[in-house]
Parts: sequence; C-alpha cells; structure tokens
Amino acid sequence: MESTFIMIKPDGVQRGLIGEIISRFEKKGFYLKALKLVNVERSFAEKHYADLSAKPFFQGLVDYIISGPVVAMVWEGKSVVATGRKIIGATNPLASEPGTIRGDFAVDIGRNVIHGSDSIESATKEIALWFPEGLSDWQSSQHTWIYEK
Ligand code: UDP
Ligand code: MG
Repeated sequence: MESTFIMIKPDGVQRGLIGEIISRFEKKGFYLKALKLVNVERSFAEKHYADLSAKPFFQGLVDYIISGPVVAMVWEGKSVVATGRKIIGATNPLASEPGTIRGDFAVDIGRNVIHGSDSIESATKEIALWFPEGLSDWQSSQHTWIYEK
C-alpha cells in the first residue's frame, strides 16, 4: 500500500468543493489517513513548492496557496499516487479530461483547485512536511470488499 499527499487549495475551499473532492477519493476505495484545515505561512508554502522556485509563476503560486485555508490530506491505497493524479487531472484544467476534478471544476492553471504528489518520493517528502505529527493507522472494515487480497 502506498500513500499520497492531497491538498485542496484555497479556491477549492472557498468554492465549497471539500466534500465533493473527499467523496471522490473515498468512493474510489482509498483510505483517509490524515486531514486538517490550515492557513499556511509563506515560508511553508515556499518549502512545499521549493522545486518550482525558479519558475516565473512561483510568486503567484505562493500568493495563491497562502490566500486562504487549504485542506491537507493523506490518502492510502494501491497505486494511490498515480491514480490520485488521474483523479485530479492535468495541471492545466483546460487540458484535463471531463470526469477529473480539474476537468470538472476548474478553468485556469493558477486556480486549479487541488494538489497531488507527483511520485512516491514526493509523497514521502510532502507527507513528512505537512504531517510531522504522524498519521492514523485505522483499517477500513470494507477492505476485503475493495481489495481481492
Ligand atoms: N502553475 C501555474 N502556472 C504554470 C504551471 C503551474 O500557476 O504555468 C501552478 C498550478 O497551480 C500547479 C502548481 O503551480 O498546480 C504546481 O505546478 P506543477 O507543475 O507541479 O503541477 P501539478 O503537479 O500541480 O499538476
Ligand atoms: Mg506538482
């Protein structure tokens, strides 16, 4: 089982998409292992997006992420990193397939509603950054109805 870091960005929170987004991951069969609503500091947002610090959109991206509360989550499941990215859709919402979160709920790349880790390595780093307090280790009673073994 792997884990991924998913964040509903300030526009997703403001637009009332928290329930809808959580529902998509939940109904798929992934397990919620951590969840919090947080207003992040500029320095923390810069750390989260450190790999993009040289990009021309970096300042705007950081301003966007600190513009309101975000919902930070950890989801667990088989292949959840890559599948989470598929559920989210392409970075540019106009290129995201309908049926994906960005494809259904966003228009501009700078207001694309949600973040998801892009690799197992980034997921490990992002989970450690956002949840130093650790995760819940509960098990779903539906596990054998979702996984064959
Ligand atoms: N972004 C942007 N302009 C761009 C590319 C990216 O504003 O030209 C923002 C967008 O919010 C994106 C985030 O920067 O989600 C991180 O970019 P990345 O390439 O990691 O895309 P993601 O992994 O979120 O799909
Ligand atoms: Mg990314």
